[in-house]
Amino acid sequence: MKPRYGLFLAAVMVGGLVSCSNVPGTGRERLNFMPDAQMNRLGGEAFDQLLAERHVMPVGADVRRVQRIGRRIVQSAQALYPDGGLPNEWEIVLIMDDTPNAFALPGGRIGVHTGMVDLAGNDDALAIVVGHEVGHVLAEHSAERMSHQVLLVGGLALGSAALKDQDEQTQRQVLAVMGAGASLGVMLPYSRLHESEADELGLMIAANAGYDPREAVGLWRRMEKQGEGRLEFLSTHPVPQTRIDDFRAIMPRAMMLYRRAGGK
Ligand SMILES: [Zn+2]
Repeated sequence: MKPRYGLFLAAVMVGGLVSCSNVPGTGRERLNFMPDAQMNRLGGEAFDQLLAERHVMPVGADVRRVQRIGRRIVQSAQALYPDGGLPNEWEIVLIMDDTPNAFALPGGRIGVHTGMVDLAGNDDALAIVVGHEVGHVLAEHSAERMSHQVLLVGGLALGSAALKDQDEQTQRQVLAVMGAGASLGVMLPYSRLHESEADELGLMIAANAGYDPREAVGLWRRMEKQGEGRLEFLSTHPVPQTRIDDFRAIMPRAMMLYRRAGGK
């Protein structure tokens, strides 16, 4: 172990004893000792790396649509959780890929696949998907996974150096921890808990933005039909039916927000 990693680990261990905080909106207590600036930097590096391997749609009606919905969702999340520490500036891209998937990374970066736009069908369902992704960022799931990973693996270069300087295995590990794991077929502990939490936060954010939360049920039914077990949205959750039941349980709260935003 190089000395500076040792120091980094020591700082992390001490920090870990006093670094529990609560998730905005759900109140769950979580461990997070990763500095925001470091997570944002890593989020940016992971985003650049992912985009370098993908075809980003430059223009078109769907690009404008995804960006319009994305901006409305971000504004809603900032209004609903003003102390959530969400970034002010967001980059929202549409990626040409038939797999119905989407992701969000720390520092305000969202990627939506064209396959997800097709599967969602309407704006309400697409807003629920984007809301789910912003929910991951709001809850700082990447930082929580990174904190656990650092304690688990020890020392390591995770998060302490530039991504491009890491070996391939470490790069994949960092990308997975950052929330881009599904694209790589890598799953981590806490995934299911994080998915449920992002579902809940995302539904409230979408409803508060005036998107109909009842579309979540149809969205997950379509997802279930499409499911091949390799989608982030399916593979990390126990059973789609459980997910639909969970949505029904929180629907009255979402409907209140939806009606307050002018929905019928
Ligand atoms: Zn998710």
